[in-house]
Amino acid sequence: MDIIKNYGKLIKKNISNPSKALNLVKLGLSIENIRVNKFKDKSLPKSFQYLNKICLKFVLDPLKNPQKSCWTNLFSPCELFHSFNINPLSIEAMSSFFSGLMCEDAFINYAEKLGINDTLCSYHKAFIGAVQSKILPLPKLAITTTSICDANTNTFKYICNNTNVPYYIIDVPYEHNKESEAYVSSQLKEVIVFMEDIFQKKFDLNNLKQIIKKENETNKYRKEYMKYLGINFFPTTLTLEMYMLFTSHIFMGKEETYIFYKMLSDEIKHYPYREGKGIFWVHLIPFYHPILKEYFNSNKDYQLLGCDLNYDYMDHMDYNNPLEAISKKIILNHGNGPYERKIASILNISNILNADAVINFCHWGCRQSSGGSMLLKERLKNENIPYLSIDGDGIDRRNSHVGQMKTRLEAFLEIVNNKY
Ligand code: SF4
Repeated sequence: MDIIKNYGKLIKKNISNPSKALNLVKLGLSIENIRVNKFKDKSLPKSFQYLNKICLKFVLDPLKNPQKSCWTNLFSPCELFHSFNINPLSIEAMSSFFSGLMCEDAFINYAEKLGINDTLCSYHKAFIGAVQSKILPLPKLAITTTSICDANTNTFKYICNNTNVPYYIIDVPYEHNKESEAYVSSQLKEVIVFMEDIFQKKFDLNNLKQIIKKENETNKYRKEYMKYLGINFFPTTLTLEMYMLFTSHIFMGKEETYIFYKMLSDEIKHYPYREGKGIFWVHLIPFYHPILKEYFNSNKDYQLLGCDLNYDYMDHMDYNNPLEAISKKIILNHGNGPYERKIASILNISNILNADAVINFCHWGCRQSSGGSMLLKERLKNENIPYLSIDGDGIDRRNSHVGQMKTRLEAFLEIVNNKY
């Protein structure tokens, strides 16, 4: 931990020397990449060792090769990026890695000093700080959506206008019907033309169909994994659950993602029955938090069942009509539209995973994670599922309250233990 802290200090010290700071970020990630390749953590299932490896590659590729990359966020049409063979860098992933390198505070401070409101989500502030301090290399373009994250549109406009990176924001309606699907599809067609123009490359419809076919095959394994996660104990960590956002979102449709879920679903079958409590998490997980790590990292008493974001859309996609299928996926993501859609999905997932309790994380500055928490509480109460809502910050360590978290979590787990 001290090594990482000191390394983070070194990055922070060089924030006014962007090329050096970027090299330090890349070097830090590369060293970690070598470490997870050469010195595998044998206490982890093999599938998670593989996940460690591919996620480091996923974040390093766009940093090393910005001319083949784009800025994006979790809910963008990743299938289009893969059909052009470009490497997406998401706000959420990059900011999480800054936090992993213990330098997120410097980028957040940088953004705030520029006048960015301190109530903005820290994932966005850290990314803005890294762009504006010129540490992040500029990609060829940026693509995002208006869905779920209310900070997205303004952040993308701000960073792209300041850096002259061309961007496209896909407007996503709340309701799913023929008209809304056609509306999003028409924008996807514009995105394709936009990308063809920027990358000087012809779009290949068949390639896109293959990517969606792969996504469908991957989802079969994801569902299989969920089925067994409802029964068996499977050691995981907060960080690995956050790493899974790579595979469940912007790297969905890639061969590596397919391999990972196949390994995962094969492996979990051989683990013993779960005897401890299953805790389902809603929203992002503050992976660095010492108390949460203590309770949920590979703990047989409290199996972390992942977070809702990792299961927010898994329907079969019609690969013969790929743009319509992608549109449907974006609109029907459980975080888009009325909060009741998300609640119904959380109940369904909790049921599949045999969850004993639900924890909702209200991330500082994120309206969508805190806005519906009372509705979720009421609904889970009706279902007799213990529920805890906790406030904090997914990446900014300065906003984590260790003592308060410990008291509330322990009191809650006591209720869960006494209930069954
Ligand atoms: S935590 Fe909320 S505001 Fe921040 S990136 Fe995620 S959805 Fe957007």
